[in-house]
Amino acid sequence: MSAERIAIYPGSFDPITRGHEDIVRRALRFVDRITVAVAHRRTQAKQGLFEIHERLQLIQQVFADEPRVDIAEFDGLLVQFARARNARIMIRGLRAVSDFEYEFQLALMNRQLWNELETIFLAPDEHYSYLSASLVREIASLGGDVSEFVSAPVLAALRARFPNNEVST
Ligand code: ADP
Repeated sequence: MSAERIAIYPGSFDPITRGHEDIVRRALRFVDRITVAVAHRRTQAKQGLFEIHERLQLIQQVFADEPRVDIAEFDGLLVQFARARNARIMIRGLRAVSDFEYEFQLALMNRQLWNELETIFLAPDEHYSYLSASLVREIASLGGDVSEFVSAPVLAALRARFPNNEVST
């Protein structure tokens, strides 16, 4: 068995924000590899913007300089996906107390499903603690400036999606 520390970071990444990027780069300080796992299906509460292939491509562009980041899509049970990749560390970001309840429940349920999987919560840089992909989608769709919250490839994709709005740099 490999001694590599392999982590998985699941989410919808619709689109990937600087908050997500911050969490990945923090995790790389203590894991060897990390797979950003993009959920195929969105929860009903989340109104989507980008298709799965677009979300994957944007993440690829954002981490083009980072060979230790893998990108994959998944559908179905996360623990099965993690197990198949021998990823025993699950990374999640905690922004505020409001994230906690759901995240705690998820961590304990996943542990129940596969006892080898350990969830590690990371706090983002304080600048990103109020940032969410849904807020980015909303601001961009209304013509607001999201350049502080997303990297250049994502900004370009948002501009292409909302061509009549001034998503400025
Ligand atoms: P969002 O909640 O922005 O739609 P995801 O569903 O893709 O994002 O979230 C995947 C993971 O990333 C979750 O653990 C979530 O808490 C975390 N996350 C999202 N945005 C941030 C952020 N700005 N700072 C820290 N963690 C974040």
